[in-house]
Amino acid sequence: MHLNPYGGDAVKLAAELANRRPRTVEDLTDRCRAAGLVIDEPVPQADLAHTLALLDTWEGVVDAATERERAERLNRMLAAGASHPRLTDHSGGWHLHYRDDRLPFAAVLSSLIAVGTAFHLVGRGMHRLGRCAVAGCTTIYADTTRTGRQRYCSQRCANRDAVRRHRATRSAADTARA
Ligand SMILES: [Zn+2]
Ligand SMILES: [Zn+2]
Repeated sequence: MHLNPYGGDAVKLAAELANRRPRTVEDLTDRCRAAGLVIDEPVPQADLAHTLALLDTWEGVVDAATERERAERLNRMLAAGASHPRLTDHSGGWHLHYRDDRLPFAAVLSSLIAVGTAFHLVGRGMHRLGRCAVAGCTTIYADTTRTGRQRYCSQRCANRDAVRRHRATRSAADTARA
């Protein structure tokens, strides 16, 4: 496991998996590999259900109403899923693990996502996790922009909302003139 939890990788992976839930273990492992995870052992079927439960818990962190609630929910995830950091060179190159050795894949993923989300929020800002501001779009984003003012999941949604606001302003102006 070499996904750098200090970068945005782990929190982006969490958002990606939460937004489009994996349907099979193969789908899950393929997408984790594509994100840079090294998975060196077969992943049992049971890990899919555990991963889906972990994503539900993580969405609770996303949807927390206040920063304190967000911190408390994430602290519970960290307490359940992470362990003291340790140095390892299990596949060449020293790096840190925030978990015990030889855990099931879903537990590894849980620790990675909890630690990665924690680094993201304390490093960049506690508000930098949310759902798209477009009504009807519930897509989660992890804000790694320079300004930290992301409100939409994508440029497409930002454009859609700009068009909607423009129309609303114009029709209000028309009403005022009538
Ligand atoms: Zn590793
Ligand atoms: Zn959106």
